This record gives sequence, C-alpha cells and structure tokens, in this order.
Amino acid sequence: MPQKVNMPERDPQIRRRDFEQVNAGYSKEEMLAEAKRCLQCKNPMCAKGCPVEINIPGFIKHLVKDNPSEAIKVLKQKTNLPAVCGRVCPQENQCEKSCILSKKDEAVSIGNLERYAADATVNIEDNISIKKNGVKVAVVGSGPAGLTCGGDLLKLGYNVTVYESLHDTGGVLRYGIPEFRLPKKVLNVEIEKLKKLGMKIVLNILIGRTKNIKDLFDEGFKAIFVAVGSGLPIFPRIPGENLNHIYCSNEFLARVNLMRAFDFPNYDTPVRSGKNIVVVGGGNTAMDSARTAVRLGANRVKLVYRRSEAEMPARLEERRHAKEEGVEFITLTKLVRFIGDDNKAVKAVECVKMQLGEPDESGRSSPREIAGSKYMIDADMVVLALGVRPNPILPSLTKGLNINSHGHIVIDENHMTSIPGIFAGGDIVGGDTVISAMGMGKKAAKAIDNYLKK
Ligand SMILES: Cc1cc2nc3c(=O)[nH]c(=O)nc-3n(C[C@H](O)[C@H](O)[C@H](O)COP(=O)(O)OP(=O)(O)OC[C@H]3O[C@@H](n4cnc5c(N)ncnc54)[C@H](O)[C@@H]3O)c2cc1C
Repeated sequence: MPQKVNMPERDPQIRRRDFEQVNAGYSKEEMLAEAKRCLQCKNPMCAKGCPVEINIPGFIKHLVKDNPSEAIKVLKQKTNLPAVCGRVCPQENQCEKSCILSKKDEAVSIGNLERYAADATVNIEDNISIKKNGVKVAVVGSGPAGLTCGGDLLKLGYNVTVYESLHDTGGVLRYGIPEFRLPKKVLNVEIEKLKKLGMKIVLNILIGRTKNIKDLFDEGFKAIFVAVGSGLPIFPRIPGENLNHIYCSNEFLARVNLMRAFDFPNYDTPVRSGKNIVVVGGGNTAMDSARTAVRLGANRVKLVYRRSEAEMPARLEERRHAKEEGVEFITLTKLVRFIGDDNKAVKAVECVKMQLGEPDESGRSSPREIAGSKYMIDADMVVLALGVRPNPILPSLTKGLNINSHGHIVIDENHMTSIPGIFAGGDIVGGDTVISAMGMGKKAAKAIDNYLKK
C-alpha cells in the first residue's frame, strides 16, 4: 500500500508568530496520490462513520480522475460546508477511524481530500434551480446547525430568514475557531453561496429579547428552527476567579477572532497579551486559546489539564500543532485557587497533582487529588476553557419549551420541541461537533418540510 500523503504544514517557528493558516493544502499531485489510496470499498465503512453519511468513495472516485467539480457535487448532496468540515472535523474519530485501511495501515486522509475538492471549486457557483413555495421559515442562530437547516430548506423552496444575535454570521466557526485553522474568507465564501441561493440573514437580533418566538409566528413564519448553540462558559468556582486578567475562553477567542484583535491597527479591539499564560482545559477550545496566546506574543503558555493527555477531547492534530508551537502540557494537574497581586491582577495559580481512578459516567478515568502535592505556577494571565453550557436566553424566555437538567432543549425523534412548529438542533440539544450540528440541521430540515406539508 502506498504511504499516506501528509498535508504540508507551515514551519512552527514561523507560524507561531502569525495568524495565517497552518495547513497549506494539497498540491494536485499530492491530492492524486492520496486519492488513489482509497480502495473504493463496496461496503464503505467510512461513510457509516460520517454523521451526515457523505458518499466518501463517491467523491474520492472523481478526485482520482482529477475532477473536483464532480467531487464537490457528491459532497454537496450531504454538506453545505465542505471547506469548513475538511478543516475542522475530528475525522480521526469518525470517517477515518472507520476506514478499512486504518486496521493495518494509515487511513485515507478523507478530510484533506474534502478540503481539496472544496478549495479547488471555490469559484464555481451552486447551479441549483429552486421552485419557491412561498412558505416562510425562521432559523435562530447562524452556526453550522442553523446554516445547514436553512440551506436545505431553501433548496426545498422555503423562504428562509436566519436571525443572529451577534454582528456577524457563523457561530463558533467565526467567533471560536481561529483564523489559523479556519480562515474567515473560507467561511465567508460558504455563507455567500447560501445568500445567493436566497438565504436572508438578519444580524444583531437576540431572539427572546429583541423579539420573541411569538413575534416570529405573528410575522407569518410557519415553523422555527432553534440553533442557538452552547455559549455559556463554565467557571471553576474556586477562590480568586474574579481577579483581573482571568478570561473565559469564549471572551478571549471572540475578541481575537470575531472582533479581530490580532489585526491591530485595522481593528482596535483591546485584548491582553500576557507573557506567562496558563490555559486550563483539554478540549479544542483550550488548544485554540493556547495557540492564540502564543501568537499574541506570550513567552510561555502552559496548558493545565486534570486528566492525562490520552483523555484530552481535543483533536489529535490540534494537540500536535500546539506542542510544535511551544505550548507546554501540564497534565494530571488541577487548579485549586488563583493568587492575586496588590492590583487585584492574577500573578500565580495554585495547583494540585492528580492520579487517575475508575472510569466515570463519561467513560474516562476519574481524576483524584494526590494528598500533599500542591504547588504554584506563575501566571500574568489565565484563560479558562473548562467547557460550555447551552445558551439559556431563548429557552428560558420561551414559555412551554421543555428543557432537561443540563439546560438542553428537549426534542422528539423529528427534532420537534414541546411547542408545535418549533424545532431545535445542534449544541442546544446536546451536540458537540460541527458535523453533528450539521447532521441535526439536515434532519430537522426534512422534518420541518414534512410537518409543513401536512
Ligand atoms: C473554540 C472552539 C473550537 C471548536 N473546534 C471544533 C473543531 O475543531 N471541530 C468540531 O467539530 N467542533 C469544534 N467545536 C465545536 C463546534 O464548533 C460546535 O459543536 C458547533 O459550532 C455547534 O454548532 P451550532 O450551530 O449548534 O451552534 P453555534 O456554532 O454555537 O452557533 C449558535 C449561534 O446562535 C447565536 N445565538 C445564540 N442565542 C441566540 C438568540 N437568542 N438569538 C439569535 N441568535 C442567537 C449565537 O450567537 C451563535 O452565532 C469548537 C468549539 C469551540 C468553542
């Protein structure tokens, strides 16, 4: 079997000082060599590992013939955001994990090939003829769930209006995931294509406050898809967490990504660039925060995580990239308190060492404190990336909308909530990846169509 073709990456010593994309993309020759590794299985396990069941051998077959325009048509049957998924999906836990080659060798680089097909066809318009039915559907939230559901409904003929509370579109894809992983011009192209298909996007409207669900029904929307995501940060609730220069990752990343603090003086968004930074957490958000802090000029960035690296939820590639860029991993360590200086700014964190015990309800070994192992780490800035909870505003202000004990909106098998005509999907119902949000958006679009046809 020919060797896997890795995607070229920029030199860590250079890329750690800018926000340009890390993965450089395949050349045509590299793409062809990698596409030819696909065995074109009759019963492709890779497609079963994909939450939206993309016909993976189908699109790769066209790439083998150097025909990205046909490859993208196969991809677009199942995904409205291939350039995004090719860059940020955790393929190693999904399609690539199920690739038959991974049993004995390295899996086909499905994500890299998807990215190639999308990038090579960036200037080709979606040539779809849509027969409008005049029925209005509202989508709340412009993240991957909302954009996918809205895009599918547009193609089915509906008039779709997406309401977004922020001043720009994309949800986490814009405010969370940094430019060096997902350039915003890539996201803009995907969103522009949806707008050209007729998607109306209204920014700066917080549904629940600026207007509510009843107003939307009164304005003639026949169904509503709620995709408001999980943006409520979790804090550790330990002494000192209100000290200055302690950020939650959402705020830190939104300042840099959404409000482009890295692009001074074009954007005058204030953000602290500490020199000795501690980032707490082990997910994608923690990696993004640590790598962003490196790029803003920190001398040392230490990533503190209470389990071992094997339990970290962050993508393998992000962990490798973070280490290459100089992020120091301090695992099996938990924060106990923050120590402040006379100006009430953080100057150190007190930690305790941990050991792993029996698996908890998440299936991962539960960490336990080692008695007498407390120690200090100096820090002039801390970023907390301990996870997020569902955005509570719309659910808490919508009478009759059932919510479970985690704050997720409760849905039935058709993504319908406890209120007829209101559907929900994405992180607000319990997803945690871009592709699962998109998968739910697709399923909900079909269900909304069935509901409205009845
Ligand atoms: C920093 C970070 C990095 C990540 N990296 C990855 C990754 O590499 N790969 C991966 O698969 N997943 C990743 N994830 C997770 C992934 O981004 C989410 O699972 C996904 O974005 C969820 O999509 P969504 O559409 O449900 O919600 P979101 O993307 O959160 O979008 C929800 C949108 O709704 C808007 N909104 C909220 N309330 C209202 C309201 N009341 N009215 C109007 N609008 C409202 C919000 O402003 C937001 O724009 C990451 C998450 C973070 C935070």
